[in-house]
Amino acid sequence: MISDQQILGIDDGHLVAVIQGHKLQLPVKTAFLQMQLAAKKEGHDLQLVSSFRSFQKQASIWQRKWQGELPLNTMDGKILDTNSLNDEQKMHAILLWSALPGGSRHHWGTDFDVFDESKVKANAQQFKLVTSEYEDDGPCASLSQWLRENAETFGFSLPYAKYIGGVAPEPWHLSFTPIASEIVRHFSIKVLQQQLLRSNISGLDMVISALPEIFERYTLNRGIK
Ligand SMILES: [Zn+2]
Repeated sequence: MISDQQILGIDDGHLVAVIQGHKLQLPVKTAFLQMQLAAKKEGHDLQLVSSFRSFQKQASIWQRKWQGELPLNTMDGKILDTNSLNDEQKMHAILLWSALPGGSRHHWGTDFDVFDESKVKANAQQFKLVTSEYEDDGPCASLSQWLRENAETFGFSLPYAKYIGGVAPEPWHLSFTPIASEIVRHFSIKVLQQQLLRSNISGLDMVISALPEIFERYTLNRGIK
């Protein structure tokens, strides 16, 4: 089992390099490479967009969104006016698309985002990592279909496949279930709280008071109870 510091993205000693600066846990890397090979045989160029992210990186995304330096998008692509939101509204607007520092599955080395690199490169449009690229005639639509049918064979699940009141749909996000489900069982809200209290992120009071709800609703994507 990985340590609390590793679950929170403070320590990356549990990870190995994959490719192009990406890091994952070794069993996850092995399963990913097997899945990549199987996908290739069926014409899909399965590559990583994003894998491990540190607490610090996630905290910087959080801060920039909170301060209005990065846009807050709604699910239908509108941009919210950051200044018109109260702290609670702002927190939920950020969490729709970006995880809480310490509460991101990307800290674990079990979760990553993928795309079909060859088809994206052959496409005239700039890649934006949006759901339309994974549907209908989008460049990653056939890969997305293949993942829905085959990812489980390699131990992967799609925790954010559907919107149920938590995170916006992310058909590109895969999780290595055997290890991730262990982490979920060991995840300590108290340890996360201690880390956040040391971090000085904006909106801290709001976040601390909603912490158990945030973990259930967004990290685990169990939606609104
Ligand atoms: Zn992701």
